[in-house]
Amino acid sequence: MTTLTETKPVEYLSDHIPEPGEVYEVLPGIKWIRMPLPFQLNHINLWMMEEEDGWVLIDTGINNDRTKDIWRDIFGRLLNGKSLKRLICTHAHPDHIGLGGWLHRQYGAELLITREEWTFGRIVSRGPMASTEFYHKYLRRVGVPEDELDEYSQHLVSAEHLYEEVPERYERLRDGSTFDIGGHSWEVIVGLGHAMEHACLYCEELNVLIAGDQVLPKISPTILVHSHEPKANPLKDFLDSNEKLRRLPESVKILPSHNQPFTGLQIRLDYFISHHDERLERVRDICREPLSGLEIAQKLFPQELDQSGKFFAIGEAMSHIRYLEDDGKLKRTENPDGIDRFQRD
Ligand SMILES: [Zn+2]
Repeated sequence: MTTLTETKPVEYLSDHIPEPGEVYEVLPGIKWIRMPLPFQLNHINLWMMEEEDGWVLIDTGINNDRTKDIWRDIFGRLLNGKSLKRLICTHAHPDHIGLGGWLHRQYGAELLITREEWTFGRIVSRGPMASTEFYHKYLRRVGVPEDELDEYSQHLVSAEHLYEEVPERYERLRDGSTFDIGGHSWEVIVGLGHAMEHACLYCEELNVLIAGDQVLPKISPTILVHSHEPKANPLKDFLDSNEKLRRLPESVKILPSHNQPFTGLQIRLDYFISHHDERLERVRDICREPLSGLEIAQKLFPQELDQSGKFFAIGEAMSHIRYLEDDGKLKRTENPDGIDRFQRD
């Protein structure tokens, strides 16, 4: 679930939005490719840079025939006899690494990624993370009725199709480490909460931040509690780790994975805090009486939701519930009917 927002406007770097297959130089030496996605969020931004002996690509698009066709077309025009040498993935969500295996095997690109993201991507790209029965058990505790369990777990059961098998080998990106692209030094700044170990890439010399999904100009990144780590507190992780980005200059040019390149880093970091504060307050307000995770999700997102929307709604609701629970502002009761309910203290 991503939330459309009204906020102090950021400034976009360019009015131009590339068509599928178009390669657009958004900043000197940085090419912007906008790959279509068959979801409500209908595109992802990808970046390419040329070096003397090859190309570097950041993120991939999902695994489907259309994305592969667009890549074949782009590489045919662009690579100019050079190889696709390195593939850097900001994190292991399918729109970012879905074609990582294909690009590695077909074009020889070596994968650079953080360790937790590689591990997660490697597991999920080789089959479901867990059994359907495991998801059902989790969803029963959240309050999903028996006849809707399949619908609510479908998004997870089918996620592996969005990935080609993530490569067996990778080079590790770690928080604070640096690497070189075309003579410029890039620093890895790890963000948490949206993904487990999301890499943002910062080049001080170029004054550019490749932000992945950690900082987006229009929407708020999805922050979800997942069934495999039900006690996680990803919202706290997200807000805390974002503070590491405060030291960057406000003039930094941000290349985000969705919508357009922009400036306005502090505006967005401030907005994420106020947006989630509002949501937390709303959840506390809703929980005057004991409610299940599902009931809270339905009050937060009263609109009609498709399968994926339902999965995101529960994950988002649980991330706010978990934050309040750890903060001592919401109390959980485990009930004889097997459903956990939450009430404000
Ligand atoms: Zn993501």
